[in-house]
Amino acid sequence: MKIDIKSMNLEEQTAYLSTLGEPAFRARQIFIWLQGGAVSFHEMTNLPKALRTKLAECCWITKPEIVRRQVSKLDGTIKYLWRLSDGNCIETVLMRYHHGNTVCISSQVGCRMGCAFCASTLGGKVRDLTPAEMIDQVLFTQMDSGLSVSNIVLMGIGEPLDNFDTVIRFLELVNHPDGLHIGMRHISLSTCGLTEEIDKLAALRLQLTLSVSLHAPDDETRSRIMPINRAVGVERLFEACRRYFDCTGRRISYEYAMIDGVNDADWQADLLARRLRGTPGHINLIPLNEVKESPLKPSHRVAAFQKRLEEQGVTVTVRRKLGGDIDASCGQLRRKEMQRF
Ligand code: SAH
Repeated sequence: MKIDIKSMNLEEQTAYLSTLGEPAFRARQIFIWLQGGAVSFHEMTNLPKALRTKLAECCWITKPEIVRRQVSKLDGTIKYLWRLSDGNCIETVLMRYHHGNTVCISSQVGCRMGCAFCASTLGGKVRDLTPAEMIDQVLFTQMDSGLSVSNIVLMGIGEPLDNFDTVIRFLELVNHPDGLHIGMRHISLSTCGLTEEIDKLAALRLQLTLSVSLHAPDDETRSRIMPINRAVGVERLFEACRRYFDCTGRRISYEYAMIDGVNDADWQADLLARRLRGTPGHINLIPLNEVKESPLKPSHRVAAFQKRLEEQGVTVTVRRKLGGDIDASCGQLRRKEMQRF
C-alpha cells in the first residue's frame, strides 16, 4: 500500500521524511509542490533525484480525471464530473461572481442523509472522500479552467460533518500559507444539522461561515423531508446553532429550499421568524431545483414568503440560480453518469 502523501499536513510529512533520514525543509518543499498541484515526484526538481525515486516507490499522488466538463452559456458556470482513482465519480462546480470565483466541492461519494429533495443521496453513501480528493477539486478546477478560486463552499455531494476529520484536515491544508492559502472567511460549510459535530466545529472557533440546511421550521414538515430531523428536532438544532454563535461570534446562514405546498405557507414563515428571534442569522431562500426522481415541485411563493419574513425583521436573500442549463445542482450529473451503465 503506497502512502497518500497529499492528504498529510506539513507536520506529518516532516515526520515521514525524517523516517527517510531527510531534513524538515525537504518536507516543506514537497508540501509546496503537492499543494500547488504537482502530479508526479519527478517534476519536483529541487529534490535530489534519489529522494524523488524513493518517494515514487513509497507514495502516490492523487489525480482526478475529467469525465465531463459542462460550461453554462448563461453565466459561465463550469461543472466538472471527475473520476477518482477507484473509479467513483464526484462533482465540482465553479461559479463566477463579481466578487470572485467560488468553487462548490463534494465531501463524500454519495450521501447517507436521505433528504427527500436531494439528488446526491439517491444511491446512498459509497464512501468518504480523502483530504487530497477534496483539495484536488480546487486545484484541478483552477488548473483546467485557468481561473483562480477565491471562495470555497462545501455544498456539493455529501454531508461534510459526516466526514468530520477529513473536512477539518482539508480546511487546514487549503488555509495553509504554503498551500492555496484561502482564508477561512472565504469558506462556507453547509450541513443538514448534525448537532454533535456542530458543537465540535464550534470548539475549533474557525472563522468560516456555517450554513444550516433548515428547509422547514416545524418538526412535522422537517422530519418528512429530512430524516435527520427524526433524531434531532428543530428545537435542539436551533440550540446548537445558538451555541455555535456564542462560541464563534459568527452568524449562521440558514438555507431554505422553497417546495410547493410543503414548506411555503404563511404560518411557516411566521414560525420561522419566531424561531430566529434572538439568534443572529439570516435566511437564504433557494428556488428548488427539480430532481426527476422526486415528486417535490418548486414553490411559486418565494417572493411572498420573503416579504412575510422581512416584515417580521428577518434578513432574507434569495439565491440566484446559476448554471440552469447544465444540471449544475448537486448530484445530478453523477446520477446521470451512473445511469448510463
Ligand atoms: N449535506 C450538506 C451539503 C450539501 S447540499 C447539507 O445538507 O447542507 C447543499 C445545499 O443544497 C443544501 O442546503 C441542500 O439542502 C440543498 N439542496 C439539495 N437538493 C436541492 C434541490 N433539489 N433544490 C434546492 N436545494 C437543494
